[in-house]
Amino acid sequence: MTKKRFIAGATCPECKKIDTLRWWVDHHVEVVECIECGHTDRKSPNSTPEQRGEEAQVIGIFKPE
Ligand SMILES: [Zn+2]
Repeated sequence: MTKKRFIAGATCPECKKIDTLRWWVDHHVEVVECIECGHTDRKSPNSTPEQRGEEAQVIGIFKPE
């Protein structure tokens, strides 16, 4: 089953709204979708989980403590 998770604090690059992006992995490709405007973004699958974690911080999955 595919788990879709909202990305806390992330801003949609299209409609600029916050907390509308959700994220999941589809066939080893990361997909980010905005529930407001329907914007989607897919990332290539050739990264390790550690690299994906770093990337997730950049786009705001993890809030800095
Ligand atoms: Zn949007």
